[in-house]
Amino acid sequence: MSEFTKTQCPYCGVGCGLEVSPPAQYGKATHRDSQGTPIWRVRGDKAHPSSQGMVCVKGATIAESLDKNRLHYPMVRDSLDQEFRRVSWDEAFDLIAKRLQTVRFTQGPEAICMYGSGQFQTEDYYIAQKLMKGCLGSNNFDANSRLCMSSAVSGYIQSFGSDGPPCCYEDLELTDCAFLIGTNTAECHPIIFNRLAKYHKKNRKVKMVVVDPRRTPTAEAADLHLAIRPGTDIDLLNGIAYLLMRWNYIEPSFIEDCTSNFPAYAEVLRHYAPDIVANRCGISVADLETAARYWGQSQRVLSLWSMGVNQSSEGTAKVRTIINLHLMTGQIGKPGAGPFSLTGQPNAMGGREAGGLAHLLPGYRLVKNPQHRAEVEDFWGLKPGQISPNPGLTAWDMITGLEDGAVGLLWIAATNPAVSMPDLERTKKALLRSPFTIYQDAYYPTETAAYAHVLLPAAQWGEKTGVMTNSERTVTLCQAFREPPREAKPDWEIFAEVGRRLGFVKEFAFTNSAEVYAEFVQLTRHRPCNMTGISHEKLQAQGPTQWPHPEQNTGTREHASSPSGKRLYTDLRFPTPDGRARFGAYHSRGLAEPPDPNYPFVLTTGRLYGHWHTQTRTGRVEKIRQMHPEPFIEIHPRDAARLNITDNQWLEVRSRRGKAKFPAKVTKAIAPGTVFVPMHWGALWANEAEANALTHPESCPDSLQPELKACAVQLIPISAEVTLKNYQLQSSQW
Ligand code: SF4
Repeated sequence: MSEFTKTQCPYCGVGCGLEVSPPAQYGKATHRDSQGTPIWRVRGDKAHPSSQGMVCVKGATIAESLDKNRLHYPMVRDSLDQEFRRVSWDEAFDLIAKRLQTVRFTQGPEAICMYGSGQFQTEDYYIAQKLMKGCLGSNNFDANSRLCMSSAVSGYIQSFGSDGPPCCYEDLELTDCAFLIGTNTAECHPIIFNRLAKYHKKNRKVKMVVVDPRRTPTAEAADLHLAIRPGTDIDLLNGIAYLLMRWNYIEPSFIEDCTSNFPAYAEVLRHYAPDIVANRCGISVADLETAARYWGQSQRVLSLWSMGVNQSSEGTAKVRTIINLHLMTGQIGKPGAGPFSLTGQPNAMGGREAGGLAHLLPGYRLVKNPQHRAEVEDFWGLKPGQISPNPGLTAWDMITGLEDGAVGLLWIAATNPAVSMPDLERTKKALLRSPFTIYQDAYYPTETAAYAHVLLPAAQWGEKTGVMTNSERTVTLCQAFREPPREAKPDWEIFAEVGRRLGFVKEFAFTNSAEVYAEFVQLTRHRPCNMTGISHEKLQAQGPTQWPHPEQNTGTREHASSPSGKRLYTDLRFPTPDGRARFGAYHSRGLAEPPDPNYPFVLTTGRLYGHWHTQTRTGRVEKIRQMHPEPFIEIHPRDAARLNITDNQWLEVRSRRGKAKFPAKVTKAIAPGTVFVPMHWGALWANEAEANALTHPESCPDSLQPELKACAVQLIPISAEVTLKNYQLQSSQW
C-alpha cells in the first residue's frame, strides 16, 4: 500500500493533484510546520494530468492549517448578543429540523435559504440540492460561485446552448496565441500560468496578450499588455473584431455553417473603428492593431479569463463578446484554441454539474426548463410540479430578503459572506436581522460566525472522501486521509441527517459518499456533463478523468459535441436547437458606477499569490503571512503626486457605501485614475481594511453576478498614527 493518499488541492480551480502522507511514517523524518509542530506532508502528484506534480505555495503549505482554529462541537445561542453553548448533534439536528418546519409551514419554503460554496465536494452539493430543491421545495440554494463565475456560466449557455469550458490544459502548450483578459493568472491560477509561461518562453513565435488595468506579474510576461480603462473590455473586444473583419481574418465557412446571428454582430462592429476604441480604452491604435494582428495571424488562439471579466454588471456580455472572436475566426473545437473560463474555487465546476446555483438543477439543467424539472422530479420520486419553476434567491437576493423579512432561515456553509459579499456594511446589518442563521464551517472563528445562532462543525478536505472537478473538467477523487477532529462531520452527512429528521428517510438513505456520487451521476446521463462512466471506485483505480465520460456501450448517441473528454465541440456542433453557436451583439455599457468629480477614482479589487479568499486557512500559515503581512492600496505615481501622497502613507478610501484605510503603495503597475486593493482582509485580520466595505452590489442582468471589480472612490490622505499593529489578529473580539 502506498504511503501517500492521492487527492486534489482544495484551494483554486486549477485543481492540482496532491499526495499526502502522515507526519512520520516508516521511520522517516517527521515533517514540521514553522513552529515545530508535526504536520502532514504534502507534495505534488506527478501522475495527475492537470498539474504533473507542480504546486504553488498554497497547496504546498495546506497541511499547516489543518488543525488550526477548528470548530469541534455544535454550538447554539438564542440571540446574537449571547454566548454560544455547546450542544449534542442530536439537539442541534432537532433544533434545525423544528425550525425548518416552522418556517416552511408559516412563511413557506421560499423563506428558507442556503448559501453554499465552491469548497464543497460534489456529494455535498448534490445532497444540498436534493434537500432544498427536491424535498423542501425551495430553489433558494446559491453558492459563492455566484460571486465568482456565474457570468461564465450564462455566457457559455447563451452562446453554445450549454455551460462547460470547452478547452483543456494541454491547449496551454499547443496554442499560437494566448489572449488573457481579466485574469491575473500568475497569482490566482499559478500552475496554469507556469505551464503557459514555460511554453511561451520556449517558443518565441507564440504570442501572449494580457488585458488588465494593472501591470500584474501576468502582464509582465506578456508580449503585449493592454492596460485598458476599467469597464472598456467590450469596446476593446469589438475593436479587435472590427479589425479582424477589415483585414479579412475571419472564417466565412465556419460562420456560415456553424453559427447564427452574425449579421446583428457585424452591425454592432461598425461602431468600433480603431481610433474610437483606442480613445475609449486609453490605449494606442498601434497596440490595438497589434492585438488584432496577433489574433488574426495565429492558427490557434486560446483566450483565458476569470473574475476580471465575470465580476461585472455586464459580465455575460463580456463573456459572449470574447466567444464572438472565437466564432468569427473559427478558433474553437481544435487543439490550442477556444474560450477558456478559469474557475476560482476547487469545485465550482462540480457545483455547476450538481445544480449548485439558484437557477440550476443537477446535470446542467435549468430550473426554468419544464422538461428539466420533470426529469429531476421523476428521478427523485417527487410529485409532478413539486420543484418550483422559479429560480431561487441569489446570494445578494438573500441579503435583501433578510432586509425585508422574506428570509426566515439562512443556512450558510463553507463560506464567509461577512467578508466576501459586496456592500459589506449593508450585508452585516442584514445578517444581524436574520431570524435564524445556521453557520456550518470547519473553522472558528470566522467573521461570519459572529452572525450565527447555530454553529455546526464541518469536516474539511482530507477528512471526507468526495469528488471535485477542476477548470478543465478533470474529475478527481479526494480521498480522506485523516479523521475529522472531535465531532466534525462531512457537509453531506449533515444535510442528509436533517433530511431524514424531516421525514425524508428513504431519500437520504446513503451510507457513504460513493453511494451519493453513484446516484448523482445517473442524473448526468445524456447530458453535456455525462459522468455515468465515473465512480469513486474507478477514480481510485484509474486516477482522474475528464468529462464527458459516459458509461461505455450504452447504445445511445451521447451529447453530439462530446466524442471524447478532452475538448468540447470538436465536431463543430453545438447543443442549441439548430446546432449552431450564437453570436451575441453587444455595445459596451461601461461601469455601473463610473468615477465622477466626487468619487474620481476607480477602485479595482483582486487577489494575491499566497492568500486564499478571506484567509480562513492561509491566514494561519506563517510562510504566507510573511509573504503578505498587510493590505495596501496601489496608486499611480502621478495620482500620488497630485494628492501629495508618499509610499506607505495611510489613505482613507471612501465610496458611497463605506470606507477603509490602507497604506499606499505608489507604483506604475496601476494605471492612473485606478487604484487596487486586495480582497483578503476581513474584520478578523485588520481594522477597517475590508475591500468590500467599498464595493457595490450592482449585477449583470443575466448572470446576477455583482460587479465586485470596480466602484468609484475618493482618496483622503491621513496621518501615520495608525500603525501596523492594526493588522494583528483581532482575537479579543472573539
Ligand atoms: Fe492549489 Fe491552485 Fe496552487 Fe494548484 S495552483 S496548488 S490548485 S492553489
